[in-house]
Amino acid sequence: MERFLPTAQFQRLINLLRRDGYDCVGPRVRDGAIVYGPLERVEELPVGWHDEQRPGHYRLARGSGRRFFDWANGPEALKPLTFASREVLWTVVRDGQGSLRFCEEVPEVRPTAVIGVRACDIAAMHLQDQHFGYREYQDPYYNRRRRALFLVAVDCARPASTCFCHSTGDGPAAHAGFDIALTELDDGFIARARSERGRDLLAELPTTEVTPDHHAAAGAQHDAAVAAQTRRLAGRNLKASLFAHLDHPEWDAVAGRCLSCGNCTAVCPTCFCHSVGDTTELDGRRSTHHRQWDSCFSAGHSYMHSFVVRDQTVLRYRQWLTHKLGTWHDQYGRSGCVGCGRCLTWCPVGIDMVETANRICGGDGDAQP
Ligand code: SF4
Ligand code: SF4
Repeated sequence: MERFLPTAQFQRLINLLRRDGYDCVGPRVRDGAIVYGPLERVEELPVGWHDEQRPGHYRLARGSGRRFFDWANGPEALKPLTFASREVLWTVVRDGQGSLRFCEEVPEVRPTAVIGVRACDIAAMHLQDQHFGYREYQDPYYNRRRRALFLVAVDCARPASTCFCHSTGDGPAAHAGFDIALTELDDGFIARARSERGRDLLAELPTTEVTPDHHAAAGAQHDAAVAAQTRRLAGRNLKASLFAHLDHPEWDAVAGRCLSCGNCTAVCPTCFCHSVGDTTELDGRRSTHHRQWDSCFSAGHSYMHSFVVRDQTVLRYRQWLTHKLGTWHDQYGRSGCVGCGRCLTWCPVGIDMVETANRICGGDGDAQP
């Protein structure tokens, strides 16, 4: 189902979602970046804003345009909405007789409609679905939040210089995994529904037929977005090549710059590493068991039996890249990179993982997914 929604009617989409009980979340300008926040009115969207990105660099600039989604991406993907950065998993309470009572702490979540999701972030969410066992086994914390989502994707018309989703096969247009996807044009949106609830919602909106001119404009915009992406990995499956070059001098070169700060893993929409810990009250009557994001760049992540397995930055960087682009294929049948470019932009020293991987692999990559 495909219809044209004029820009002047976009508020109706938000109104209908709110009427149906969804909390709406969408891109907002905050602290110099575009991040998700509560959304009630279209004026709260980043109208006319663009992002300028390159390795180690992110700036917003306002143009004279009136589009809502004329930027690439911000530091947040969907990950914080499904995999909380820190949450309590269970508590244990000691009663007066000395017995321990364990209490599950599954979060209460509200139906949430996310507006403005990029294709790469939907692909990343499907990778996290595999990891957290969405619909199969069964991380209840992830699954509750995941099930509560209604996704309104928006095709990317202005990729950043750091984007390479076309080479990973994940963008710039969304093809699956959403309820409604929008292609923004100057005067409105081509809206296509993929789910039943998306079709129901679209049927209620004041839309018109999509014209051949709309299709022509959307096609030209998509081609331009693809052409704008000049960065590409040497292949979609670099496992064999990376493991054939574990002693390549590039590993030491990149480790000489890497701060082991973990920014790249925090912003990466597919990274799922976490640690667990316990906080015990001083009187010993209650303890909480929590989970929080961790990073393979931290010393604690490879700590086993009083021994840090990866005690040098070079080993941590190599672990990250060989997992992300190599052994992820064994785990989940594809690379763990969706080409969003965030790890390049938000690396404080501007390490470019595409350049690094391509230097190590040369042209050895297997172009098949
Ligand atoms: S590895 Fe980098 S480019 Fe790939 S998905 Fe993660 S943050 Fe995005
Ligand atoms: S690659 Fe960059 S962001 Fe990642 S740990 Fe190293 S310095 Fe930090």
